[in-house]
Formats: sequence, structure tokens, C-alpha cells
Amino acid sequence: MNQQPAPEQPADVVARLRAAFRTGRTKPLTWRTTQLRRLREMLTERGADLAAALHADLGKSSTEAYRTEIDFTIREIDHTLDHLEEWLRPESAPVPAHLGADATAWTQYDPLGVVLVIAPWNYPAQLLLAPVVGALAAGNAVVVKPSELAPATSAALARLLPEFLDTETFAVVEGGVPETTALLAERFDHIFYTGNGVVGRIVMRAAAEHLTPVTLELGGKSPAFVDPDADLAVVADRLARGKFLNAGQTCVAPDYVLTDPETAAALEPLLTKAIQAVYGTDASASGEYGRIVNERHFDRLTGLLDSGRVVVGGDTDRSQKYIAPTVLADVDPASPVMQEEIFGPILPIVTVPDLDGAIDFINDRDKPLALYVFAESRTTRDRLAAETSSGGLGYGLPLAHLTVSDLPFGGVGESGMGNYHGRYSIETFSHRKAILNKPLG
Ligand code: NAD
Repeated sequence: MNQQPAPEQPADVVARLRAAFRTGRTKPLTWRTTQLRRLREMLTERGADLAAALHADLGKSSTEAYRTEIDFTIREIDHTLDHLEEWLRPESAPVPAHLGADATAWTQYDPLGVVLVIAPWNYPAQLLLAPVVGALAAGNAVVVKPSELAPATSAALARLLPEFLDTETFAVVEGGVPETTALLAERFDHIFYTGNGVVGRIVMRAAAEHLTPVTLELGGKSPAFVDPDADLAVVADRLARGKFLNAGQTCVAPDYVLTDPETAAALEPLLTKAIQAVYGTDASASGEYGRIVNERHFDRLTGLLDSGRVVVGGDTDRSQKYIAPTVLADVDPASPVMQEEIFGPILPIVTVPDLDGAIDFINDRDKPLALYVFAESRTTRDRLAAETSSGGLGYGLPLAHLTVSDLPFGGVGESGMGNYHGRYSIETFSHRKAILNKPLG
């Protein structure tokens, strides 16, 4: 009889990884760079497996799967390999005179130990693997929990990662709420969670039991402010590409457009034109346009379609989990579409009288993960940067700030805490130890 071995219990996984971490095997630079190179090999040799899984889960085109998940992670690995030695270098600190001229002080990056990475379903490969790059580079043992809502990608990761990484110090635990709850009962040295704020609170509560630090990469309603002085054809094109990527299921997607009534009216036909230029007049026939992750989200999203006048789109097909790229105008801020993060292909246009109105509108709500500003005026740009708070700020181009490896990526307030990418991942997954040396002689 061919019996599957029972899956290892979370407590046993963590104990096993902790014992391996204690041997010191993850600390040498060569172990870390080897793991990163192996992960890179996985992505280059088996990228097609991941792309197929992403297509099965989200209807992602292969181009999009490579651009936003596989190649994205490869770039993060390459950037880390190029700079890791320099990032890990101890930094000396000036010593006060009362300690004597022979005293020296410096900081050293210590790995934290065993860290947990919990990933969501919308970019189920990138949002699991990019934190893993930092966690391995910082010399940690790592447990990952892919999202059960992207089951094909979860299965592919659970199959591939152990083939390429050091399984003494790396483990994949698949599953949903019960499995994650069991994992969260264990003591970790850091928990890195990407997903929604409700679960973010559950994660933080569980972490508090062990005084485990957390990074919470959450979402929110990211506004796109459009100034009347902007070239509206360019704005429409960039909004369409940023909003409807992955059928709008992107944490940093422009959630809604904020502008004055005249600019809104001028934008409407330009947005229609831009969407048709990218996806054709029938996006359901475009190989580049994705699908909604499941029926629950499909039903939630279709319930938002009557929050305004449909400018373009509005077509849906539940059997295909298809919702056309949709723009809504005349949207009341009190309507359902403006209450929560949309996380789908619906772009409402909300009007405010002027820049002051826009700044108040943003500040009256939760701090967003991103703010996008389309404006030529220096004063307008500077005022929005100075007078609002958001995880990131993009002038002229949505989403792209998170592809700059030397920028920290993360939220503020309701959109999250902590950040990562590049050297910021090393800060997140390390302890910066303070060291003082006073010679005995
Ligand atoms: P999800 O449902 O896949 O949940 C994320 C993870 O939490 C999964 O691994 C899931 O198993 C786990 N989980 C769910 N319920 C749980 C519970 N009760 N206890 C313990 N663990 C549980 O993904 P989601 O939350 O629907 O993702 C969408 C949200 O994530 C959006 O708000 C989006 O903006 C945000 N997001 C943020 C970022 C970012 O980088 N800041 C990126 C992507 C998505």
C-alpha cells in the first residue's frame, strides 16, 4: 500500500528548524548566497510551472506572471546578491570621551532565528518569495504559508521550494485558517504577514503572546489625484494599465480617482479609450486580462457596480469569474464602492472642488498604502507630499515605486507597519546588535 506520510505538525516543524538554526548553519554568507542562487535557479528552470499555476488560479497571462511575479523576484535576488556583503558590514559608531580613547563601538546584523512568512493570493508567488529573499539573506530559518485561495500556486510552491532550498532550515506549510492558527500558536522570531487588516490584527494578537515582532503588509484605498494641469491622455493610459493589471487585484492599485468635476468629465472618454487600447473593446477576449480569484470576491465586486454611472465596462460573467474593466462616474463618497478597498477592476471617479478638498478627502480617511499624484505644478505635488500620509507616493506612475529595490515598500497606519525590499529586508529580518569593546589592558 502506498501510504502518504502524515504531514509534520507545526510545532515539530518549528522545533526542527530552530534546532538547525542553533547549529549556526544559516549564518555564513556562503550559505545565504547559495540559498538565493538556488531560489533563482528554481525561478529560471521551473518558472513555467509557476506561470501555469498562476494562470490556473487567477487567469494571469504568462507575460504578466513573469513580469509581476517571477522576473520581479529574480530582480530582487540579483540586487540582494550584488549588495549583501556590503549591507551586512558592521558599522562603527563614535565612542564618547568618558570611555577612553582605546574603546571602540560598532553594530552587527544578527539573524533573528526562525521566521514565518504568510502570503496572500493576489500575487501568490511574488508576495511569498520576495520576503523569503530577505529572510534568507539575513540568515534565518524560514517557514512559509502560501495562500489557500491560490491553491495551484500553493501546491507548486510546496513542491518546488523543498527541491531547491535547504530543507533543514526551510519549510512550507500549506493550509487555511486552522493550519495558520496552529502555526501562529508557535514562537517565531519574526512574523511577516501580507493580506487584509482583519487577519493582520489576528496575527499581531497571536504574536503578542510571544513578544514576536511583526511586519504587516496590508492594503487600503489608494487614491489617484488628477490635477487639471496634467496631460489627461497620459494619465488615462497610466491609470488603465495600473488599475486593471491582475484584474485590479493589486494592493497598490489606484483604488479611485480624485479630481475636480471638469477634469473628471474630460477624463471619462480618455479612460474608455485607454482601456480599449490595452484590452480591446471586449476584455473577455483578451489573453492579457485576468479573472477574479473566486465566486465570493466576484459577488462582492458585482455588488459594487451600481455605486455610480457606468462610463465603460460593467459586463460580468460569473461562470468565467469575469468582470470587465469598469469606470464609474458621479460616485457619492457614501456609496458602497467607497467604503472598503475595492480590490477588483472597478475604478470610481470621485469629485472634490479643488486641491484643498482633495487633501481633506484623503486625510479624513485611513492612511493609504499608496498615493498617486498626476500634476505638473510643483506646489500641488509638494503640498500633497507634505500634507498627507501614505505608505508610498507615486508621481505620474502607479505601482512602479515598488519595483525600485532601493526604496522601502510598506504601509503606514491602517495600511500596515514595517517595510521590506533590498536592504530594508535585511533591516526587517535582522537584529542590529550594539557592541562596545573596552580593552582590558
Ligand atoms: P488571503 O485571504 O490569502 O489571506 C492572507 C493570508 O492570511 C493567507 O495565507 C491566509 O491563509 C491567512 N489567513 C486568512 N484568514 C486567517 C485567519 N483567520 N487566521 C490566520 N490566518 C488567516 O488574502 P487577503 O487578505 O484577501 O488579501 C487581500 C488583502 O491583502 C488586500 O487588503 C490587499 O490590499 C492586501 N495586500 C497587501 C499587500 C502589501 O504588500 N501591502 C500585498 C497584497 C495584498
